Amino acid sequence: MLDRRKALKLLSAGAAAFTFVSAQGSLSSIRKEKNKKHLAMAIDLRRCNGCKACVTSCGVENGNEPDEHRTQVVQVVAESGDKQHALNLPLLCNHCEEPACTPLCPTGATFKREEDGIVVVDSTVCVGCNYCAMACPYTGVRFTNSKTSTIDKCNFCIHRTTRNLLPACVESCTGAARIFGDVNNPDSQISKFLDENEVMVLQSDKNTRPNVFYVGLSQEEADQPYTLHIENTWQR
Ligand code: SF4
Ligand code: SF4
Ligand code: SF4
Repeated sequence: MLDRRKALKLLSAGAAAFTFVSAQGSLSSIRKEKNKKHLAMAIDLRRCNGCKACVTSCGVENGNEPDEHRTQVVQVVAESGDKQHALNLPLLCNHCEEPACTPLCPTGATFKREEDGIVVVDSTVCVGCNYCAMACPYTGVRFTNSKTSTIDKCNFCIHRTTRNLLPACVESCTGAARIFGDVNNPDSQISKFLDENEVMVLQSDKNTRPNVFYVGLSQEEADQPYTLHIENTWQR
């Protein structure tokens, strides 16, 4: 597991170009069905100030216990030559196009919605076997909810977004770093943002084709196995 304080060495320009191509490939394949609603999130790391308002508002909105997070913000220290820089990296379920979690579910409790692409967990059907969490390459995005003993994770605030409200983490973001919407609507903020910026996805080598896109990550930073299970040592 990556030590969040571990210094990262930046990769060559060639490798960075490869990641950019894979992220753009993921985006192009998502946008093939142009008339279909397809929800996604973009996170602009240049604007994230690490305040964790998103973490707090998500917990309050979704009634999670203080140590059970659907989203987290990891502080990464990266190294370029003899210089270091820090970045705040918000993490959540990637609502993957090819989710590794859903095929393993023995009850069909977790699935990807046809109508908007959100990957959900039906807690009335989940038996808490944890197979989905073990299959997911993004450590900690799925966890056992201690109140229900079923698997929990980000669901793009489905109770809000189906009523055209923004997810709690997006609405509360003090840096306007989180952008959410329909990538197949050319007039949406996220569509314009994705068109105007070079985006990365996390661990593209896992071939799950994430629907959470990042701006401001290098190749090596994007490829690290981050976890939502972190100590809050740097939080006020
Ligand atoms: S990030 Fe993990 S839990 Fe979320 S859709 Fe992808 S494989 Fe499933
Ligand atoms: S979209 Fe909703 S559930 Fe997902 S991280 Fe944001 S606030 Fe939490
Ligand atoms: S609320 Fe926005 S600025 Fe604050 S930590 Fe979360 S993503 Fe970053």
